[in-house]
Amino acid sequence: MFQKILVANRGEIALRVIRACHDLGIEAVAVYSTADRGAPWLDVADQTICIGPAVSAASYLNIPRIIAAAEVSGAQAIHPGYGFLSENSKFAEQCRESGIEFIGPPVAAMDALGNKDKSKTVARKANVPTVPGSDGLVETEDEAKRFAHQVGYPVLIKASAGGGGKGMRVARDDASLVTGFAQARVEAEAAFKDGSVFLEKYLDRPRHVEVQLIGDQHGNVIHLFERDCSLQRRHQKLVEESPSPNLPDAVRKEMCAAAVRLAKEAKYYNAGTCEFLVDQQNNFYFIEVNARVQVEHPVTELVTGVDVIREQIRVAAGEKLSYAQKDVVQRGCAIEVRINAEDPARDFRPSAGVVKTWRPPGGPGVRLDSHVCAGYRVPSNYDSMVAKLLVHQPTRAEAFAVMRRALREFIVEGIHTTIPILRTIFDTPAFIEGKVDTTYIERELMPNWPG
Ligand code: ADP
Repeated sequence: MFQKILVANRGEIALRVIRACHDLGIEAVAVYSTADRGAPWLDVADQTICIGPAVSAASYLNIPRIIAAAEVSGAQAIHPGYGFLSENSKFAEQCRESGIEFIGPPVAAMDALGNKDKSKTVARKANVPTVPGSDGLVETEDEAKRFAHQVGYPVLIKASAGGGGKGMRVARDDASLVTGFAQARVEAEAAFKDGSVFLEKYLDRPRHVEVQLIGDQHGNVIHLFERDCSLQRRHQKLVEESPSPNLPDAVRKEMCAAAVRLAKEAKYYNAGTCEFLVDQQNNFYFIEVNARVQVEHPVTELVTGVDVIREQIRVAAGEKLSYAQKDVVQRGCAIEVRINAEDPARDFRPSAGVVKTWRPPGGPGVRLDSHVCAGYRVPSNYDSMVAKLLVHQPTRAEAFAVMRRALREFIVEGIHTTIPILRTIFDTPAFIEGKVDTTYIERELMPNWPG
């Protein structure tokens, strides 16, 4: 087992990984940019190293600096968290070439799955259903039109390298296809330095259900059941829960088995997530693999009792999985909400600044993963998430009651947060009944929200 791990990330996920290291008796090295100097999570680390200025390209995305920091500190492994370098196979390769273990999947699996259109080829090979789509990349408007006419509008233009909802456009006719095609390519080129796009049939009001996977280097892969992340705004998740409400057990079983098949086909190990869309007839379609730990992994930790980060570290060190599939059960209901420094009354405008009051909830059934405290300045340079609030209860109704209580108790002053809209969401009948789809917030909730 490793004695020292470098955490190549910031904020709540850096803190989460540092905690997992300490639970395993491992020292944690935190790296930070000048914008994060003096940040609270750095106090918890055993060692801290400044890796550059605020701009991510020069610090949290700066591969030579991060590898040098690991070498100087004597860390034997690097945990990339999510975002930043977590899905960068070149980074993984360079870490391993430098004799530092990258806590994540093998490079070949990252390459095979890292790209949405390539990963669909792997899915088809593993006999996993995919959303009807163009056969590979679409280079010209004419090709795009041909596909759209063949499957029928609406269609979705998707960046092959996409993430975070970027480079995605819905087209409902030839005119919007032509403009969307150009916009998606420009946006993808700017965000990922890769403007390639492909097309998919745009499913009508689907639910988003994903399967957590974990595998070791000895060929064992298991699933840790599913999470429902249908409550989204602009293709970004706001709330996640497990189990997925109103999902027939047979579909759950099939979906989990399909995810494991796909991971085995790609010779995958470490943690990953297989994302699916579920249509109104409960047919499921693979959309992509997130080859890293996800923001919402604690939902799975609560219902299964498996510590996903600890397990990631163990398998990266070459150990066998601590669980066999039959040992993993889904107990009760867990829900997570993402609390972002954004103003929902002003179109979710980012709200950086100093947190004057921070009174988080607690009590039975509540877990809070956050790097924030009173006096902390939320920098404008990075992701706006300030906390993940989770609840775990025997039933979904009880989980809702505890979440309402926790959201009522949570007081933040000095910055705007998404807490007010989350309070509304937990009183919304369609969500209480588990009947929301990925377009619900924009279609039904926001137009009627007083703010
Ligand atoms: P990203 O990697 O940018 O997050 P995903 O491929 O994971 O993109 O898709 C994000 C969200 O976009 C999904 O959860 C869903 O809401 C929507 N989406 C993606 N593909 C489709 C599709 N074919 N039809 C309808 N909605 C889709």
